[in-house]
Amino acid sequence: MKPAEPGPLARFTPPLEDGVISTWLPLHAPPGSWVLDPFGFSSRLVLEAARAGYRVLVTVNNPISRFLLEMSADPPSETDFKAAFADLAASKKGEERLGTHLQSLYLTLCEKCGAEISADAFLWRKGADAPYARVYTCPHCEDAGERVVTPQDVEKAKQIAATDTLHRSRAFERVAALEDDDRVYAEEAIEHYLPRPLYFLTTIINRLDSLNLTPERRRALNGLILVACDAGNTLWDHPSERRRPKQLNVPGQFREHNLWTQLERGLAQWTETASSVLVEAWPQRLPESGGICIYEGRLKDLAEEVKKAIPIKAVIGSLPRPNQAFWTLSALWAGWLWGREAVEPYKPALRRRRYDWAWNATASNAAFTHLFGLCHLGTPFLGLLTEPEPSFLTSALTAASAAGFDLQSIALRTQHDPIQLLWACGEHLKRQPDEAEIGEVREAIHAHLVERGEPASYLHVHAAGLVALVKSHALKQKDQEFDEALRSTHALLQSALEEDLRFVHYSNGESVDTGLWGLAIESERDSSTEPTNGGSAHRESLSDRVEIAIVTFLQKHPNSIYREIEQDLYPRFPGLLTPSMGMFYAVLSSYAQRENGGWRLRSEDVAAARREELTRITSLIEAIGRRLKYSTRKQDKNYLWEQNGTIERTFYILASALLGRALAETPYPLEQTIIVIPGGRAALAAYKAQRDPSLAARIKRVQVVKYRLLRTLIDLPVLTRETFEEQIAGDPLEKPKSQLMMF
Ligand SMILES: [Zn+2]
Repeated sequence: MKPAEPGPLARFTPPLEDGVISTWLPLHAPPGSWVLDPFGFSSRLVLEAARAGYRVLVTVNNPISRFLLEMSADPPSETDFKAAFADLAASKKGEERLGTHLQSLYLTLCEKCGAEISADAFLWRKGADAPYARVYTCPHCEDAGERVVTPQDVEKAKQIAATDTLHRSRAFERVAALEDDDRVYAEEAIEHYLPRPLYFLTTIINRLDSLNLTPERRRALNGLILVACDAGNTLWDHPSERRRPKQLNVPGQFREHNLWTQLERGLAQWTETASSVLVEAWPQRLPESGGICIYEGRLKDLAEEVKKAIPIKAVIGSLPRPNQAFWTLSALWAGWLWGREAVEPYKPALRRRRYDWAWNATASNAAFTHLFGLCHLGTPFLGLLTEPEPSFLTSALTAASAAGFDLQSIALRTQHDPIQLLWACGEHLKRQPDEAEIGEVREAIHAHLVERGEPASYLHVHAAGLVALVKSHALKQKDQEFDEALRSTHALLQSALEEDLRFVHYSNGESVDTGLWGLAIESERDSSTEPTNGGSAHRESLSDRVEIAIVTFLQKHPNSIYREIEQDLYPRFPGLLTPSMGMFYAVLSSYAQRENGGWRLRSEDVAAARREELTRITSLIEAIGRRLKYSTRKQDKNYLWEQNGTIERTFYILASALLGRALAETPYPLEQTIIVIPGGRAALAAYKAQRDPSLAARIKRVQVVKYRLLRTLIDLPVLTRETFEEQIAGDPLEKPKSQLMMF
């Protein structure tokens, strides 16, 4: 179950799934072993490993990531959160309670009843000096939504802006000293705060030291303030599209959140993540029962110490992905929460403004090289690559390969799921890289598309090509810089695809990395109206094979939970064939229903029931044929309507949504063909057509009708050949229900 609230700073932490690490680790190292996470980007990953009984050593360079990790492993109690929050609210600002004062910053008048209420947010346009709208829910009259600002709202925003210079200079003094060269960068970063949130945050931060909180309560309050620090910047576009910002760019329109509400929200977020895992700071050791040992600093500095002291049995990690927004803001927040000394080791993050993939590959390679130095031969390394995109994958594979890690496997579902990369620490010998061969890349991509039996996303064919280059150690030449290596790899992959007539690009865009790539042969064979002999060369598509596998599994194992079905299928569809969750659910919702968490086939989809149904449909085809003055004959798997020895119409009856098979096993002209499917299969068939343009094009040329149409037709008092044609033309496949189903 997912928590109702995403965790604190969720838009900046890697979006990982639960269960991957706890399933993978025991296969490679017994519980109690030492495991290393050299990147420390994901608390979730580290916590899961620690909870599974491992001793996890984590290097964390970013003070905010470190804080997130400690807080989620061992959060203060709910009582401490509440008490710290109450102390803050009750402290005095002049004659006023600080809580009352801070809340008053967000007061606005209800448009309907005129009551003074609290706004949830103000909406701004980039560069404006006042908000243009406010968002509220009135507790008195229940008026709710986005409303135009009042003159008072504008006045209030301007009043706060008038004192801004003072608060702004306080805010950067906590990050960098006056004479500091980096001060200008800190100032630029703080530009991403409007006057009101900046006033709000500096007021609280300046209050921290005089509150006299216990260390635990201070930690709790820091946690709440951190949530407000992130809610207070201008990186909240409205309406929300860029949910996971990577760059410090001010959107054209954005939300200014009510930070008091956000402090309260922080309380809910932190207390929901409650868990208790032992956390120690290096060089403290951990008991065999597991826990987390944090090394704050760089892997480089840790490598020598670890090699002598700790046997690392496995390496895990969410691979580094450039995030200028998070890194810069982290430096800022660290200064606000803990002062200048805390920012010092992390301050370069303020300075560096452009992180491209070549930079990423160079930095990752340095990390992988230190990692290589402390691992023994064969040490397994599971890297998770979140929010995958082709350049990120090239960067990671090139960096790891150049550092001496051998790629064992890659599992890729969609561009919306993390890619799983399994490496092993290779031999220490210096390896001579090979020249990249375009022929090998082409064959690898071709082999993947043949195996898949349907078009693939660019990310899939890119990955297939990269794996071929990894195998021949051809991702980076000796003495080549990473930017050059990345560029030539991409150019190679691009020409491998574009200059080969076997590949077809299904895309509206010009660029090679959009849309889907498939094999030309499919369309060639099927555009021919010449009869083929029963489709013996037909390669069942991935989605058809997944459909068969899921149904077969459910026939043998009724009431299985989703995870069990997944575990049965993943080994059958490994690597780049890994089926998406969208595909699982498209098949499951077509065939099965969920009862008490388990999936079981619908009663009409149990094999015996389906066989009876098929017999009934066959006799319906014969009966309708008789009324239309056709004779019906069975030929292999097809039913033919004939008149005077000429074939007029052919039928192929399916109990499944295996349209690809039906098309391949129909040797007659597609325009004559009617494929009959159960109504319950229509959404699944539409899903398949939507993800496979070559299938969609073939389906367009036949008629697909549902069982129930035939049942309706036989009951019509008057049935002519014309009405028959009209009726079957008006029975389209359904559109898939949700966006998720696309993948
Ligand atoms: Zn009202």
